[in-house]
Amino acid sequence: MNLHEYQAKEIFERYGLPVSKRSLIKSESEIDDAINQIDFSNGCVAKVQAHTGGRGKVGGVKLCKNKADIEAFVNQWLGKNIITIQTDELGLPVQTISLEELTDIEKELYMSFVVDRDEKCVSMIVSEAGGMNIEEVAEKTPEKILKGKLNHEYIIEDQDIIKLSNSLGFNQAQHEQFKNIVDGCSKLFKDLDLSLLEINPLVVKVDGNLHCLDAKINIDENALYRQTELEAMRDASQEDEREYEAKLNDLSYVALDGNIGCMVNGAGLAMGTMDTIKLYKGEPANFLDVGGTATKERVSAAFKLILSDANVKGILVNIFGGIVRCDLIAQGIIDAIKEISVEVPIVVRLQGNMSEEGKLLLNDSGMNVIGEDSLQEASKRIVELVK
Ligand code: GDP
Ligand code: MN
Repeated sequence: MNLHEYQAKEIFERYGLPVSKRSLIKSESEIDDAINQIDFSNGCVAKVQAHTGGRGKVGGVKLCKNKADIEAFVNQWLGKNIITIQTDELGLPVQTISLEELTDIEKELYMSFVVDRDEKCVSMIVSEAGGMNIEEVAEKTPEKILKGKLNHEYIIEDQDIIKLSNSLGFNQAQHEQFKNIVDGCSKLFKDLDLSLLEINPLVVKVDGNLHCLDAKINIDENALYRQTELEAMRDASQEDEREYEAKLNDLSYVALDGNIGCMVNGAGLAMGTMDTIKLYKGEPANFLDVGGTATKERVSAAFKLILSDANVKGILVNIFGGIVRCDLIAQGIIDAIKEISVEVPIVVRLQGNMSEEGKLLLNDSGMNVIGEDSLQEASKRIVELVK
């Protein structure tokens, strides 16, 4: 789960990380108030709050010299969507704008903490090439990216910090500040069960002090049960509506670009199903795991979810009944079709526990549902049908 920049900065402050003073605008009428809450003597930076980076490149971060500049910015963005290289073509809704006190920048650096699966630890990454797309830096000038490892107590060895600090060209005072920032980030990362913390850019100000100009935090979804304060900060408007709906129903759903909706029980089988569709030159519209203990109700919810995607031109149901009873799944499918008018073809493969009973139910339902016994045949069939 992501947070907004302003929320991440509130948390940064608690860990002693230097961020700019801010105020928020959620409606046009709040502009005066927001200006009064910060030092506006040299103007400020207006920043669109949305779960994306790359805002600067599309005008979502702007220096404002006076109130008129802010009014123009608020008019341009509030209630609109922001589209960046990190969003899809629809972009994300802008419901909040943050005004930040101005920072005079000498140099922009990059700093992040990530769960590093290759190294089996949390790694800290720094680069002198800040403010840019880090994937691009990694590709074109990998020598500009440096890494340090955190141990299992989330501590990075002093000598490693010194190495990274030297590579960034810090003097003694800056090194001390850097060390404090690294300590604060490490602690924050551990306490809040993060999977990513990114400061891009971390800047050296004209006065020589280090400052976190941007803040991105990603929390491990699986830890939210014990991060209730963060969970309360969730902004569902920034998430894929269907993925969010799925979470509420305990379904694992990931939206994809294709036109064949998939409903499968078990993540491994779901992956195998997507592979098989691809093998027959079809494109899955989603990954959907209804779980090992799929019930009639969840199948029904899953069906509605798949059909809420207008790109879906056909559905493939692939259920392997180990514990799950296929007849209950079949009933769930029938109920769902009755409740929501389904106009796309449906191919169903049921195997295992009570599958014969399930097939009978489907056949007797009088509905346009095609039963297949093998995954290959079922996949081939749905690919042909959506053509
Ligand atoms: P992003 O584009 O979504 O990653 O948004 P950032 O918060 O990183 O801002 C983009 C860029 O705006 C930064 O890399 C800076 O160059 C610039 N910027 C942001 N805040 C300030 C500021 O206070 N002063 C100045 N001079 N530039 C700023
Ligand atoms: Mn940034």
